[in-house]
Amino acid sequence: MRSVLILGATGSIGCNTLDVLAGYPEQYQVFALTAAQNWQKLLEQIRQFQPAYAVMTDADAAVLLKQAVSDAGLATEVLSGTAALAELAAHPDVDIVMAAIVGAAGLLPTLAAVEQGKTVLLANKEALVMTGELFIQKVKQHGATLLPIDSEHNAIFQCLPSALQQDTANQQLADYGISKLLLTGSGGPFLRKDLADFERITPAQAVAHPNWVMGQKISVDSATMMNKGLEFIEARWLFNCRPDDIQVVIHPQSIIHSMVQYADGSVLAQLGQPDMRTPIAHALAFPQRISTNVKPLDFFALTEFSFAKPCAERYPCLYLAKQACALGQGATTALNAANEVSVAAFLAEQIRFTDIARFNALALDHFAAVKASSLEHILQLDSEARAFVLQKIKEMH
Ligand code: NAD
Ligand code: MG
Repeated sequence: MRSVLILGATGSIGCNTLDVLAGYPEQYQVFALTAAQNWQKLLEQIRQFQPAYAVMTDADAAVLLKQAVSDAGLATEVLSGTAALAELAAHPDVDIVMAAIVGAAGLLPTLAAVEQGKTVLLANKEALVMTGELFIQKVKQHGATLLPIDSEHNAIFQCLPSALQQDTANQQLADYGISKLLLTGSGGPFLRKDLADFERITPAQAVAHPNWVMGQKISVDSATMMNKGLEFIEARWLFNCRPDDIQVVIHPQSIIHSMVQYADGSVLAQLGQPDMRTPIAHALAFPQRISTNVKPLDFFALTEFSFAKPCAERYPCLYLAKQACALGQGATTALNAANEVSVAAFLAEQIRFTDIARFNALALDHFAAVKASSLEHILQLDSEARAFVLQKIKEMH
């Protein structure tokens, strides 16, 4: 029996994780569930999985949840506030932490799990984008097991030789005959949209992803391809490689989830439905396999299978992220923070779709040379970059 904590249980990844766990009550025990505000959904999950603990980071929602849990006669202890996330992530009774909070808010609890040498299933790519070098150092130092949930990274991981899977952070890809990591992306909902119409894209259009059902922030990131940019940086750290070792390939059907090219000309790919329950199940059971309710692929229904090169005019955010990756940790921290603020402003209809890249570029330019090596520096830079973009948005109005 392995004990699981889900950070961000009410989100898209959190719900998919519980869907997989529901099939294996003998193998996995849900130790704790956390969320920000949606106490009604968390209550439903508590009823079904009866965890020892639940955390609502929002204080008002925590009061409501506590009352509802007590009224329902459930034994789950409800905690409140962000400090409780890191406390539970470090709890001795936890074996596996699913890091599925969106954005920088997920960083500290995820690091707390790493520092206790837990098995960390990483969906929260922003944590790694912010702190890459430091994060991986801590993984090594504390002997944590880091398994990628992001479908592309999970696909790449599955295409690696098993000796490399055991120790991705310390090995060189070239020593295993690997010449390139091919990171695929659908291109999002605006792959073929006229560039002249980009200014008028609405939040509702941007979150309507053609293949995946996801949270709002990552859906907007997929539309700008900042998501692929964040994943580029994520891959650089997860697989201990150089930016030159990674190539982004547009594959609109989202059936190939990424590929690994070997020196002898072989390319290994992982294929499947665009359904996050597959990578989640893979990482939960690794190195074993468990089954999910994901529909098997029907090759006779795959009428089209295509590939393209991403263009800088359509996807400036992808290129900003690659630039930040080459610059280093200060630049990636600042770009991630800027992007969180500009995406939130776009979703709140305060700025246009095209302004996301504009503000992100301003922030990257401003903070490009900043070095951030300690956690303290990184957190400080994160808040400075947020304040910078908020100020620029204010000036624009
Ligand atoms: P989501 O918005 O659906 O869910 C986010 C979860 O985090 C919710 O449970 C929410 O309550 C919690 N949360 C949000 N802000 C918080 C805060 N400030 N403090 C504490 N908790 C907070 O997001 P999602 O789509 O599930 O994505 C989660 C993470 O996984 C993101 O980093 C995303 O990039 C990554 N990811 C998601 C998918 C996907 O298919 N959804 C795929 C790959 C990677
Ligand atoms: Mg992904």
